[in-house]
Amino acid sequence: MDITQYIRDIKDFPKEGVVFKDITPLLLSPTATRQVVKEFILMLKDQKIDKVVGMESRGFFFATLLAQELNAGFIPVRKPNKLPHTKIQEKYELEYGFDTLEMHSDAIAPGDKILIHDDVLATGGTAEAVCKLVERLGGEIVQLNFLMELGFLNGRNKLRSYDVRSLVTY
Ligand code: AMP
Repeated sequence: MDITQYIRDIKDFPKEGVVFKDITPLLLSPTATRQVVKEFILMLKDQKIDKVVGMESRGFFFATLLAQELNAGFIPVRKPNKLPHTKIQEKYELEYGFDTLEMHSDAIAPGDKILIHDDVLATGGTAEAVCKLVERLGGEIVQLNFLMELGFLNGRNKLRSYDVRSLVTY
């Protein structure tokens, strides 16, 4: 299946110069989403996963589907002040300024095997911050997977020590 058929380019969103990769056409197709989940599962080659971490907010869609398929738990990583319980946070650099991501402190037990998922790998700053959150709680990162990778932004350079997979590279 060619998943690029289900991804819509929106020029100059959310700001000028950005081509936003819109996955809502993919989410409208149960056949295509099922196929995407199948392809992600094959990439794991039967490695055991205890928990799947998804990034707010578009990472949640496939992270929960993958967690179900893997019989694993789902962990949301959220923007500040959204999670209600005791949490840890990581600050990371954006093009202009900084942002913060949070995770519940009791979400991961030391030694848990973790899969990290998001829709798009761009500069890698978000994924790098999530890796830090997972490792601070003692989680072992088995793989990071993305629907898409914007290859020209070299996000992989920040994630060199991990197994990074994506279904499509632009
Ligand atoms: P980065 O930290 O630069 O790798 O950015 C990754 C995060 O920003 C992901 O959570 C994506 O959902 C979002 N993102 C970055 N660039 C795009 C894009 N061109 N289209 C859609 N989402 C994007």
